[in-house]
Amino acid sequence: MSAKVNRVYLALGSNIGDRDRYIREAIDMLNEHEAIKIVKISPAYNTAPVGYIDQTDFLNAAVAIDTTLSPRELLAVCLDIEQRLGRVRTIRWGPRTVDIDIIFYDDLIIDDGILTVPHPRMHERGFVLQPLCDIAPNAVHPVYKKTVEQMYREWKAKGDINSNV
Ligand code: ATP
Ligand code: CA
Ligand code: CA
Repeated sequence: MSAKVNRVYLALGSNIGDRDRYIREAIDMLNEHEAIKIVKISPAYNTAPVGYIDQTDFLNAAVAIDTTLSPRELLAVCLDIEQRLGRVRTIRWGPRTVDIDIIFYDDLIIDDGILTVPHPRMHERGFVLQPLCDIAPNAVHPVYKKTVEQMYREWKAKGDINSNV
C-alpha cells in the first residue's frame, strides 16, 4: 500500500548573500527528495525584516508540495536543507541564508513541543501571506477557519494603521 500524499505549504526566506540563489537551491533540494514533489512556486518578494529589524531585507517565497513524509520527517528535511545551505542560528529572527517553515500540512493541527502547525505566526506576517496568497488563496486555516486570501486582506487592513506588524 502506498503512503498517503499530503498537500503542504512551505514559506521560504533568505537575507544573506545571493538570496535568490538560496531560495532556488532550497526549492531544488526539496524537489530532489524522492518523497517530495513541488506543485507550485510563488514569486519571490523583497520584504523588510520583522522582529529583529537591524538586518538586510529578506527575499520571501512560498511553495506548495505534495509529500508522503510525516510532518516531523518533513521538518527534519527542511532543517537539513537549511544546514546544507549554510544556515547558522545566532540571534532569534536574525539573518539567515535560508529559512524553511511549514505553514500548513493538509488541515492538521499539531503542537507537539517541537513542531507547531499551522505555523503560529503566519497570520500576522505579510511576508508569508502575500506569496502564499499567490499560490493558495483558497487554502483554509484549520484553526481560524479563514482562507489565506481573507487573512492577507485582514493583515493589509491592519497594516494601514500599524505598518509591518
Ligand atoms: P519563526 O518560527 O518565528 O518564523 P524562525 O523560523 O527564525 O522563527 P527557527 O530558528 O528557524 O525559527 O526555528 C526554530 C525551531 O522552530 C525549529 O527547529 C523547529 O523545531 C521549530 N518549529 C516549530 N514549528 C515549526 C514550523 N511550523 N515550521 C518550521 N519549524 C518549526
Ligand atoms: Ca521563520
Ligand atoms: Ca524556521
